[in-house]
Amino acid sequence: MPSLYTASISHAMTDKSDGAPNRPLRRGWTTGACATAAATAAYTALLTGEFPDPVTIRLPGGETPAFALAWEALGTGECAAGVIKDAGDDPDVTHGALIIATVGRGEAGSGVVFRAGEGVGMVTKEGLPIPPGEPAINPVPRRMMTEAVAAVAAEFGDAGDVVIEVSVPGGAEIAQKTWNPRLGIVGGLSILGTTGIVVPFSCSAWIHSIHRGIDVARANGFDHVAGSTGSTSEQAVQRIHGLSELALLDMGDFAGGMLKYLRRNPVPRVTIAGGFGKLTKLAQGFLDLHSGRSQVDFTWLADRLAELEAPADLVEEAKGANTANQVLTRAVAAGVPLADLVAARARAVAIGVLGDCGTDVEVLVFDRKGGLEGRAGFAGGDARVLILGGTADAAALARGLSGVGVITSLAGRTKAPAALPGEVRVGGFGGAEGLAAYLEERGVTAVVDATHPFAATMSRHAEAACRLRPTPRLMLARAAWTQQPGDRWIEVDDMAAAVEAIPAGARVFLTVGRQELAAFASRTDAWMLARVIDPPEQPLSFVKLVTGRGPFDLEAERALLVEHGITVVVAKNSGGEASYPKLTAARELNIPVIMVRRPALPPGEVVGTVEDALDWLKRR
Ligand code: NAP
Repeated sequence: MPSLYTASISHAMTDKSDGAPNRPLRRGWTTGACATAAATAAYTALLTGEFPDPVTIRLPGGETPAFALAWEALGTGECAAGVIKDAGDDPDVTHGALIIATVGRGEAGSGVVFRAGEGVGMVTKEGLPIPPGEPAINPVPRRMMTEAVAAVAAEFGDAGDVVIEVSVPGGAEIAQKTWNPRLGIVGGLSILGTTGIVVPFSCSAWIHSIHRGIDVARANGFDHVAGSTGSTSEQAVQRIHGLSELALLDMGDFAGGMLKYLRRNPVPRVTIAGGFGKLTKLAQGFLDLHSGRSQVDFTWLADRLAELEAPADLVEEAKGANTANQVLTRAVAAGVPLADLVAARARAVAIGVLGDCGTDVEVLVFDRKGGLEGRAGFAGGDARVLILGGTADAAALARGLSGVGVITSLAGRTKAPAALPGEVRVGGFGGAEGLAAYLEERGVTAVVDATHPFAATMSRHAEAACRLRPTPRLMLARAAWTQQPGDRWIEVDDMAAAVEAIPAGARVFLTVGRQELAAFASRTDAWMLARVIDPPEQPLSFVKLVTGRGPFDLEAERALLVEHGITVVVAKNSGGEASYPKLTAARELNIPVIMVRRPALPPGEVVGTVEDALDWLKRR
């Protein structure tokens, strides 16, 4: 049931856009106001045995609306009441949700303590008004509930020491449609609101969310955020930059809202991403890109085409075009870089807003499918060298280049990869073609394939991609280990052969990586210990796991082999020093090693050390 007095509140806004009815818009109540009403009713019932229904509360602005109760539960130690949230005409995902407050007695002198019940989130990241570890009940709703408790306590002569648990049945699912997951608020919704009243089509709420996103990105130390006009451009930005979820700002139409806040709260780099039409408006100088509040000026676009010396008929046609995309399609067909010029102009507008706050800007223009159409890069220069990483050598190379002009690409297999200087992107490219497209998009001038010697697919794709989109490529592969006097190696060509080579009844130490373990499940006749960086997602019953990341220490390796009575070690011939001590320990203990040989490298230049790779890059 909606709150009783909704319709009597004055209406300040009328709708001017989006085809909504041409009548005053109805205001609603925030989750904070609903929780306060529910808490007031529940606490009153705890003290008197009766629920006030409707229950009246006081909002921060002095209004005193009353709410009908939709749910009540009378207990001896605690009482609960619920109010259905009416968001008015605001397109709010929480509209119709039941907001329940359960009020129980707290410890003497505790005051009001807040808890998150079902469907209310917990804060896990810095940068929000509530610290990590607390329920996502914002300061104003907390204050409203605390004041309401004090008023009821005074009326009925109670001390006012209570625990208020706020819950929203189904809130966890609803929260998936909100910014909460991105803001690090887990498990449900936030109890929000600064005035208690929802203003319909609330631009301010959206802009507020952008601001909180910037706060969270700053608090988490991100040096690069991206504001996108919609989900297509956001996904496209992700493909290019591979930023953390927390660095993605749902800018929507509010370029100004984002940029003005960045001016006061700078982040070193911001990417503005969007469709051609929206970014044309930014290029024209509009900071609000909403279709109801700014329009594409086709004469302006025609002037840009003329500036690019486009054929006269194209310029004329643009003046009478229906949509910006129509103009773009024609320009692309004629080979006129209109989207690049629009990106450059949009970037200039953004820089005008940011002033000299220290934030560098990049503008990316995407087509409707997320293809990159135009780009105006960062002043500080764009990344040029792509390191295919996932190894200690790749990290050392990025550090050797001080991260300048470097993108390191990781597959995303390791949950918490070591911090790297420069730009880091995570996840596959989508095969050789995907990588070739990425090289083009980012203007990569050199690729260093510093993947692990056993990452053969990636190396093959890199070779093919650098042929498809001609790009110099170097492989950095440290030398393979060779057998030393005293070693007892059984060399095999692949993992299947390694499985076969294990003697019956052996006690095996597997150091082959998490991805390869499943192959060993067939050896039920052997006892197995495996060392992994991250535990596998599915528990493995046939093997005991230890976690560890190199470099490893000889003494500890010796102790591990002895402690577990290991009779055979299985290893990949990775080379390098970090994981070599297990081989020394095996030699000392006279334990055989089943050594998997490396897969063949694709054709191309290979160096064995980071120094040689740095030299190769310097020569470009
Ligand atoms: P893989 O079999 O050669 O590659 C499988 C797919 O993973 C590739 O086709 C590619 O997907 C994606 N991928 C691999 N490396 C990537 C990178 N650096 N950046 C972006 N995407 C990447 O690779 P893997 O053996 O699973 O190894 C994955 C990663 O772990 C590599 O970065 C490697 O250096 C590291 N690593 C591997 C081992 C090992 O023993 N294999 C040991 C230590 C570290 P798309 O086709 O979609 O582009």
